[in-house]
Amino acid sequence: MTTIKLHNTKSRTKEAFAPIDPNNVRMYVCGPTVYDRAHIGNARPVVVFDVLFRLLRHVYGADHVTYARNFTDVDDKINARAKESGRPISEITAETSQWFLDDMGALGALEPTHMPRATAYIPQMIAMIEELIAKGHAYAAERHVLFAVDSWKEGYGQLSGRSVDDMIAGARVEVAPYKKNPMDFVLWKPSSEDLPGWDSPWGRGRPGWHIECSAMSYDLLGESFDIHGGGNDLMFPHHENEIAQSCCAHPKGDFARYWMHNEMLQVEGKKMSKSLGNFFTVRDLLEKGVPGEVVRFVFLSTHYRKPMDWTERKAAEAEATLRKWRALTAGIEPAASAAAAVIDALADDLNTAGAIAEMHKLATSGDAAGLLASGQLLGLLTADLAGWEVQNVDLAPLAEKLAGLRAAAMETKDFSAVDTMKAALLAAGVEVRMSKTGVDLMPGADFDAAKLEGL
Ligand SMILES: [Zn+2]
Repeated sequence: MTTIKLHNTKSRTKEAFAPIDPNNVRMYVCGPTVYDRAHIGNARPVVVFDVLFRLLRHVYGADHVTYARNFTDVDDKINARAKESGRPISEITAETSQWFLDDMGALGALEPTHMPRATAYIPQMIAMIEELIAKGHAYAAERHVLFAVDSWKEGYGQLSGRSVDDMIAGARVEVAPYKKNPMDFVLWKPSSEDLPGWDSPWGRGRPGWHIECSAMSYDLLGESFDIHGGGNDLMFPHHENEIAQSCCAHPKGDFARYWMHNEMLQVEGKKMSKSLGNFFTVRDLLEKGVPGEVVRFVFLSTHYRKPMDWTERKAAEAEATLRKWRALTAGIEPAASAAAAVIDALADDLNTAGAIAEMHKLATSGDAAGLLASGQLLGLLTADLAGWEVQNVDLAPLAEKLAGLRAAAMETKDFSAVDTMKAALLAAGVEVRMSKTGVDLMPGADFDAAKLEGL
C-alpha cells in the first residue's frame, strides 16, 4: 500500500500518515460562511483537500474515507447581509450554499461525504458548552459563555506555537468586561430579538463561530479523527480554539491527529483585495470564459504550502496544456491506474506540482492512457470537466478550407487568399502548420474561438 506523507502543522514535520482506522479514514475541513459568492482564495482549500480526498480514496478505497466540510450559516456577516438586502437569512444561506456547490463543482471538486450546516447542530453545540462548563473550562457571564484559556494553559497555543502570554501581548483582542482573561473566546452570545437565536440555559442566543466545528466534527467523525484541514489564516485563533474546546470537552480523544494548512492566494503578485481592484470570485472567472478545469490546473501547479499566485499568463498556459492533453487522450480508455510516479508525487505531502511535471513526461512519451488515468486521480481530464475544449476546437473544416485554398494557389501562383486566412487564424491564436501532407491547425495558449467567425 502507498504510504502517504503529510506535513503536520502540529509537529511541524512531514510524517507518514497512519489512519486510526484504515476502513474509515476521517477528514474535516472548515467550510465557507455563506453570504456571498466564493472568491478564488476561498476555492484554494476546496481544491487542495479535494485532491487529498481523491488520494485517500485511491489508497484506502472510495468507501473507506469520510470527509466532512461545514457550512457556517449563522454569522454576523450573514445577519448584516440580510439586513441590508431585506431578504430572509434562510433564503440567503440556502442560495449561497448552492452557489458554492455549483462553483466548486465547476472546479471539479467532489462533494464531501457530509456537509453539515451549523444551524442544524445547535443542540450538539449547547451540549458541548455545558460539558465545558461542567469541567471547569468555560464560564457564563452576562448571558455570554466564554472559554477560559487559563484552564488549559498547557495546551492552548500549541498548534500555532505561541503561549497565552505571547498571544495577549501580540493580539488585538477584544477586551470585554465579562472576560476573565482577554484571550477568553466566545462559545455562546446573546441575540437581540431581531437576530437569529435559540433558547439555551444562558438565555436566547447563538453560538460563537469556533464551537460549531468542534461540535459537528465530534458528531460526524468522533472524538479522535485523522486529518483537519483549512487555510493557514484559520490556524489562529479558529483552529487553536477548536482544539481547546474539543480536547477539553473530550479529554480522552485526540481531536485531529494531522493538521494541514494551505497557504494563501494572491493575484498577479499582489494580495487580493477589493481596494486594489484585483478581487474576483470563481463565478467571475467562469463567466469570463475561463474553464473550471483551467482554474483547477493553475491551483494545482503550485504546492499547497506555498503562496499561490494567480496570473493570466498561468491560466493561458494551463489552457494550452489541457487542450493538448485532452486532444491526446480523446476517445481512449484510461490505464488501470495512475502512473506510479504521479502517485508517488501526490503521496509526498500532496506534491501536485510534481505530479503535473510527471504528467508532462507521460504526454511527451505518448502514454495517453497513463496520462488520462493520472489526470483523473488529480480530478483533471474527467468527463465532468470536459466539453470546454471541444466546442472551440473543431478546426478540421478550417484546415480543409485552407488546404483547398493552398491547392488552388499552387495552380494560380496567387497566394494572397492563403496568406489572409493564415493571418486571421494566427490572430485567433491558432498555430498553423503547413506541410506537404496537409494542414494542421492547433489552438494555442491565446486561442479565441470568437475571432474565427466569418472564416
Ligand atoms: Zn473550523
